[in-house]
Amino acid sequence: MSADSQILQRLPSVSKLLQEDSVQALIDLYSRELVVEGIQEYLEELRTEIQEGQLSDQVLSERIDSLDSTVRSKLEQRLAPSLGKVINASGVIIHTNVGRAPLAPEAAEAIQAVATGYSNLEYNLETGKRGHRDLHFEERICRLLSCQAASVCNNNAAAVLLILNTLARNKNVLVSRGELVEIGGSFRIPAIMERSGVILKEVGTTNKTKISDYREAIDQDTALILRVHPSNYKIIGFTHRPELSELVELARESKIPLVEDAGSGLLFSSSHPFLREEPSVQSVLAEGVDLVCFSGDKLLGGPQAGIMVGQKELVDAIRRNPLMRACRVDKMSYAALEWTLIQYDNGNYTKVIPVQRMLSAPAEEIQTRAQRLGKLLDSEVFSSEIKAGFSLIGGGSAPEEQIPTYVLAVTSKQHSVNELERQLRKSPTPVIARIENDQLILDLRTVFPEQEDLIVSAFAEIASRFAEIASRK
Ligand SMILES: *Cc1c(COP(=O)(O)O)cnc(C)c1O
Repeated sequence: MSADSQILQRLPSVSKLLQEDSVQALIDLYSRELVVEGIQEYLEELRTEIQEGQLSDQVLSERIDSLDSTVRSKLEQRLAPSLGKVINASGVIIHTNVGRAPLAPEAAEAIQAVATGYSNLEYNLETGKRGHRDLHFEERICRLLSCQAASVCNNNAAAVLLILNTLARNKNVLVSRGELVEIGGSFRIPAIMERSGVILKEVGTTNKTKISDYREAIDQDTALILRVHPSNYKIIGFTHRPELSELVELARESKIPLVEDAGSGLLFSSSHPFLREEPSVQSVLAEGVDLVCFSGDKLLGGPQAGIMVGQKELVDAIRRNPLMRACRVDKMSYAALEWTLIQYDNGNYTKVIPVQRMLSAPAEEIQTRAQRLGKLLDSEVFSSEIKAGFSLIGGGSAPEEQIPTYVLAVTSKQHSVNELERQLRKSPTPVIARIENDQLILDLRTVFPEQEDLIVSAFAEIASRFAEIASRK
C-alpha cells in the first residue's frame, strides 16, 4: 500500500461523521442535505490535497478535527446573500451600477406595509368589486402634470417597447438620426424599435434635423413620431433640432401622435442651475406632446418603473396590449411610487426624496461634512485634504452637468491608492470611491450622513489590516 492510500484511509466516512455531536449541531442549524453536501465537498478537497502530496499526517488530523467549523463557515458563505448595501462615495447621484435612486425610508415602509400582507391592489373598497392597480397613482400624477391618463410598467425601456408596439406595429415611426442612441446597458433605440415590430424611418442627419425633414418623411404608413431625450450625450457645434412646438404642430396637422421618451423623469422644471436645460415632463406635456414616458428611478427618485403619461385614448390602448400584462409592476412598486408622488403633491419632494436632496445640497454643507470626516480619518496611516470638485447627476440625466462639491482626497502613507480603494470595496459595508491623481476621492454628496461613521470604521479596520501586514514583514 502506498503512503498516500494509507493516509486516504484515515479520512472518516460521511456516515461516521454524521454521528458526531458537533456535526449534529450543524444539522440543527441547517438541513441534513446541506451538511452532507458540505462534508462531502470538504472531504473531496482533503482527498485532492493528499493525492497531490500536500498533507502530512499531522496536518490531516488537525483538518479532520476542525471539520465542523470549516464546514460551518463554508455553509455560512454559501447562504450569505450576494446582494447588499454599499456606500456610494462616488458623487454620481444616479449610478446604475449601485442601484440608481435610493428610496427614502418612508417609501420602504410603504412597501413593507403592502408587501407583508394583503392590500387593495386591485380591489375597490367602495364597491367591493375588482379595481385597477393604476388607480393607486393615476389620479395623482394626472393632477400633478395636468394630463388625462397615466400607466406604469416595469421600466422606461418597457414603456418605449409598449408604446411602439401598441401604436405603430408594422407601421413607420419617424426618429431623428441624431436621436438613434444607445442609453447604457444595451438599450438601443433601433434595436428596441425592431423588437417592438415597428419600422424605423430615419429622419435628417446626425447633427442636423429640420422640421422639413420630418414633414417630407410622413406618408400614409407613418404611425408615430418619436423624440428621444439626449440623456447621456450632447451633440455640440453645427447642430439643429426642431423646436418642440414645431413638431407638435406638424404632428397635429398630420394627425400622427408625437411621443417623447423623456428618460430622466424630472417632473417639474427646476431652478437648479444644472437642471435648467433639462426639460420637465410637465413642460413637455404642456407644449402638446401626446404621450411622454420616463423612468421612475432616475430624477423622480422613486422605484424602478416606466411611467407613461398623456392622452387617454393612447394610454387606454397601451393598457389593452397583452404585452402590458408581461411588463406590469407589482404591489411593491405601486406602494413606493404612490409614496413618492405624494411628496411631489405635498411639496416636500426636495426635502425628503434622497436624489432630490442630494441634488440640492449646497456645496458648503458637503464641505462641512467632509472636514469633520477628514479630521476623523487623519492618522499615522492616512492623510486627507479637502478639495473643490464636481458631483455628477449620472444615470442618463443632464449628461455633462457638473454640480460643484467638495471632496475629501485621502492618501495612505504606506500603501498605494489602488490598494486603499480595493480594501474599501472589501469593507463590511463596501465603500465605492474613485481615484484621481493618485488620491482616493470621497464625495459625501451621495453618502447618507448616518453612513459617515461606517466610513470611519472601514478606514480604521484597513489601518489595522495594514499594520498587521507590516508586522508580518
Ligand atoms: C434611462 C433611459 C431609458 C431607459 O430607462 P430604464 O428605466 O432604465 O429602462 C430610456 N430612454 C431614455 C432617454 C433614458 O434616459
